[in-house]
Amino acid sequence: MQDAQRPGYFGQYGGRFVSETLLFALDELARKVDEIVKRDAFQTEWRGLLTSYVGRPTPLTETARLARAIDPAGKHLARLFLKREDLCHTGAHKINNAIGQALLAKKMGKRRIIAETGAGQHGVATATACAMFDLPCEVYMGSEDVRRQAPNVGRMKLLGAKVIPVESGSRTLKDAMNEALRDWVTNVDTTYYCIGSAAGPHPYPELVAMLQSVIGEEARAQSLTQTGSLPDGAVACVGGGSNAIGLFRGFSSDASVALYGVEAAGHGIASGQHAATLTAGRVGVLHGSKSYVLCDEGGQIQEAHSISAGLDYPGVGPEHAHLKDSGRARYLSATDEEALAAARMVARTEGILPALETAHAFARVGAIARELAEARGRPVTLVVCSSGRGDKDLETYLSRLVDS
Ligand SMILES: *Cc1c(COP(=O)(O)O)cnc(C)c1O
Repeated sequence: MQDAQRPGYFGQYGGRFVSETLLFALDELARKVDEIVKRDAFQTEWRGLLTSYVGRPTPLTETARLARAIDPAGKHLARLFLKREDLCHTGAHKINNAIGQALLAKKMGKRRIIAETGAGQHGVATATACAMFDLPCEVYMGSEDVRRQAPNVGRMKLLGAKVIPVESGSRTLKDAMNEALRDWVTNVDTTYYCIGSAAGPHPYPELVAMLQSVIGEEARAQSLTQTGSLPDGAVACVGGGSNAIGLFRGFSSDASVALYGVEAAGHGIASGQHAATLTAGRVGVLHGSKSYVLCDEGGQIQEAHSISAGLDYPGVGPEHAHLKDSGRARYLSATDEEALAAARMVARTEGILPALETAHAFARVGAIARELAEARGRPVTLVVCSSGRGDKDLETYLSRLVDS
């Protein structure tokens, strides 16, 4: 939760490290979040769309075969429940946020929406929401990602969005975000910038967390209904951190629920080629916000690496930085290879092909279950955020997991 004394801060993290022009726009946005998003009328309309259009509430599915697969010694370590964001329209949790922000833009009278995207999932979600609300949509995407994520580029175009390839830097997500911020500075009167994760300058981390907290709210209520009690732990993968913060916020007042985030360790932390910002980063500033970042001693931002484009980002939302320092949440990591193996395990035991991002969370569920069951001296119940489905990753899965 935000610091009550310093709005926009989570402990020492967050804030607004931006130019004068953007400060103005961010002030207006923060005001509109209070005046519009927090009101009953907006909440009713947005939640109505989540039901009738996105397909919420998403189920909480018990996965008994997966629970046995992570427990080869047969010690009855854990009951596992998946919060099924993979069943949302467009295939991941990102639509919860995109619909909320597009609705806010409409109410603010903005006539043009811009967004950044890496893997293309947030671009597709934003293009979808804009098509539904009849808003023109332009999506900045690194040209390297345009090449790697061709099916999502096609999807955005079919939905009527304009995709703008970005040629600067490493031509990936961080460069697309720089370019989107630049566009916003120039066109702030007419344009709404729809950020895709719980990162960026205040009020975005709080706004996105509010819109994604529907995940945790539902998961908490469903746990109580389906098991009669709260889970012992909640687990999610962490890129910018939006699906994880959405799940965690449902349990933020429940001290008995342990929170775990799993970052991408790429080729391994020691290789230097990873995206494990909280595990191996330093405190710094990226995209207008103070948090952990992957940078050298001089503060120069380093390239991230992950097999999963949605986790391939050298920053992380400021609330996670604070949850790490305070010890309320713990952050682990999983390598590319571990994520691939976990995706195969989930597909074969449960008939669910997870997104590569989500597979990182699954890769650590066994270790988390063992540790927590030992600490509590009994079998535990874990809720895992199944943040998205793996259709978009088919090409990677086919080349890495299926013998031709
Ligand atoms: C984008 C994405 C993520 C990572 O983003 P967060 O903001 O950390 O949630 C995770 N899973 C899926 C399926 C995604 O599309």
